[in-house]
Amino acid sequence: MKNKILLNVCCAPDATHTINALREAGYEPVTFFYNPNIHPRDEYFKRVEDMKKLAKETAVENITDVPYDIEEWFALCRPLAKEPERGRRCEVCFRMRMYKTAQKAKELGMEIFATTLTISPHKDTALINRLGKEAAEKYGVKYYESNFKKQDGFKKSIVLSKEHDLYRQDYCGCSYSLLERLKQKRGNCC
Ligand code: SF4
Repeated sequence: MKNKILLNVCCAPDATHTINALREAGYEPVTFFYNPNIHPRDEYFKRVEDMKKLAKETAVENITDVPYDIEEWFALCRPLAKEPERGRRCEVCFRMRMYKTAQKAKELGMEIFATTLTISPHKDTALINRLGKEAAEKYGVKYYESNFKKQDGFKKSIVLSKEHDLYRQDYCGCSYSLLERLKQKRGNCC
């Protein structure tokens, strides 16, 4: 029997290839969609539903009793509202999600956890891995260091997302990244 690994999922499209990669590495992922950063609420539940769909289609165990700690997230990140994407706000946001996943792994008696976040070419892989290790140490579990974008991982996730007919968002998740995206779109069309 394969070892279970708790997989922090930022969105279903990013989970597609990550699930395959972890299975190839000898693990059986259990997905954990903990993303209080996502705004607005409709967007959050849209992504939750897509994760449920993907879990069903890939026969993955998906944890569904996950809190939407939006107030806690804003309390930490509102002071960093003006930070650009990849700035200090993202570090705080990643840390919150890594810590919660490590805590959940401990609670479930799972030895190890991973995250889909390292599949994104827009995110700082070294930072994510550092925070994952920090969270693992705090909760006495292990962290699976990764760079899922390697060997065309990101491209593969795009193909798989189409095959599973998943919704693919065009902004990272928080209200600040949404605003940034809208500004870019406005800039492009005028
Ligand atoms: S841009 Fe993405 S990673 Fe950064 S704070 Fe917003 S949701 Fe979190």
